[in-house]
Amino acid sequence: MRGLMQDRPLLISSLIEHASHYHPDAEVVSKTCEGPVTRHTYREISERSKKIAQALLALGVKPGDRVATLAWNTHRHLELYFAVSGIGAVLHTVNPRLFPEQIAYILDHAGARVLMFDLTFGDLVTRLRPELTCAETLIAMTDAAHMGAMPEGSLCYESLLAAETGQYAWPEFDEREASSLCYTSGTTGNPKGVLYSHRSTLLHSMMLCQVDGLALSSHDSTLLCVPLFHVNGWGLPYASAMCGAKLVLPGPHLDGKSLYDLAASEQCTFSLGVPTVWFGFLDHIEQTPEARPEALNLKRVVVGGSSAPRSLMRRLEAIGVYGFQAWGMSETSPVATVGNLLPKHADLDAEARAEMQCVGGRPVFGVELRHLGDEGQVVPQDGTTPGELQVRGHWVTSGYYGLGTSSLDAEGWFDTGDIATLDGDGYVRITDRAKDVIKSGGEWISSIDLENAAMAHPDVAEAAVIGLFHPKWQERPLLVVVPRPGARPDPKDLREFLAGHVARWWLPDDIAFVEAIPHTATGKIQKTELRKQFADHVLPETA
Ligand code: ADP
Repeated sequence: MRGLMQDRPLLISSLIEHASHYHPDAEVVSKTCEGPVTRHTYREISERSKKIAQALLALGVKPGDRVATLAWNTHRHLELYFAVSGIGAVLHTVNPRLFPEQIAYILDHAGARVLMFDLTFGDLVTRLRPELTCAETLIAMTDAAHMGAMPEGSLCYESLLAAETGQYAWPEFDEREASSLCYTSGTTGNPKGVLYSHRSTLLHSMMLCQVDGLALSSHDSTLLCVPLFHVNGWGLPYASAMCGAKLVLPGPHLDGKSLYDLAASEQCTFSLGVPTVWFGFLDHIEQTPEARPEALNLKRVVVGGSSAPRSLMRRLEAIGVYGFQAWGMSETSPVATVGNLLPKHADLDAEARAEMQCVGGRPVFGVELRHLGDEGQVVPQDGTTPGELQVRGHWVTSGYYGLGTSSLDAEGWFDTGDIATLDGDGYVRITDRAKDVIKSGGEWISSIDLENAAMAHPDVAEAAVIGLFHPKWQERPLLVVVPRPGARPDPKDLREFLAGHVARWWLPDDIAFVEAIPHTATGKIQKTELRKQFADHVLPETA
């Protein structure tokens, strides 16, 4: 017997409709590429989204068409989140920090018909244009006054919008239709497209607004440091509309000073970002007398995308901010686990609490995890046995766009490519990406644990660990360190410091000091590049 409840599809358009009706005055503050800060209410964002939706329809965009963006975090990019998906087309956000050849590959592979871009990417689009086979319509996301330097034949976003009435009712369709498309950064091989649906997006948003999710609510003012081109801005644009949270968008300015200034002036309570963003934010506050932590109202910060060293959580705490981790990937929308504590953790001392803040969290409802050993057997959830992490859930991918095959095993599990431990409560600790783990004499050394231990040293600004060939042990760790400004860490002292934190046989065979460590387009340590850089490096014992 079927239930008799209303069967309303879970559609992205319902999010902005809700925000416009029930949180009409909540604000979206945006630093624009043109310079000024703009302020809109959700009611205005809703109206502008409808106008741009009408413009896209007038240009012939059909359900299922891919509309690509090369854009920063601004109100216009946010509007496209609702407008493109709202008409049944697919918002295809492309990371502008990738190499131009990769961008061209991604746009063509996705078959993007329309390409929208910020003022800052006009030149990039001009260069890309001869490579693109599908993108027949170019739209510059700016106003008429700034169209001068835009690629020939580009349409103007604000002019298109101004020509429409905003009198538009969002269509209803199947919630399983595709809503957005993000490509993984493709550190190995070509980038692969993850195709989200309206249903997966809404379920993920509901989780973000749960207390045991990210606890996002109308009381929050969120500084969105995660780019809107990185896994749907970790779902925050949708979830913020769902609960009426104020959204603060930093535009192209992700440096420490700009983020501090915005967080202070907009009294942001909540934020999210990768560790490198927080390093910049904290460096600015710690090194600039005028940047006063008391001027902030920041209470909670999610550190995700890479493992967070304890020293980072401590530095956040010193300015009155509670940092916690979330784990996920493009293939999981992205949030799959959140570092919330359980009632039994209420009496944790400061040390134990800091430890909990640095694990990747535990599954929220809708996500299941397990991990497998070398033989493909499920290994115990004892908090110490590492294994290859698998995930299953309502907002986890089943396969990649255009590949035609499922990426799941017979029981519906997706291989994450991460190595992790799981404990009895489901807390996950990522110890490595499978391809980064250091295999020394048949045992595994966690590069992440070593990096985090090194980062706790006061003279270390950033650390990365890679495995180098060793004739006897197969691989041994090389620690690459960026010293703090003015510091000259002594390698012997550093090794002794590490000996207090990790097993002796994990200690790096060598330490290299560098001015900078390469980062990926999403701000993570780029181990492939580091491995290339140190390909000829000979470890001392083997020299
Ligand atoms: P890419 O890094 O290739 O752009 P993703 O953003 O999808 O793609 O990255 C997902 C990966 O980031 C995960 O597989 C994991 O290795 C890493 N990651 C994400 N969150 C965490 C975390 N909290 N701790 C450790 N690693 C993390």
